[in-house]
Amino acid sequence: MSSAPVTINCVECGGTAHLISFLPPDDEPLEDGTPLAYRCSDCMDRFDLVWEADDT
Ligand SMILES: [Zn+2]
Repeated sequence: MSSAPVTINCVECGGTAHLISFLPPDDEPLEDGTPLAYRCSDCMDRFDLVWEADDT
């Protein structure tokens, strides 16, 4: 998998957190270490993830 999920489950409230980071076009795979920011639409918490590809 080379693209980030658009939404993740909020670890705080179980709601849906939406990706708010700018991403490169679909044909450009994310590089390891790319920061991804999500914001939960329910509790408004922000989560910062660091992208790491599985297929290293
Ligand atoms: Zn939440």
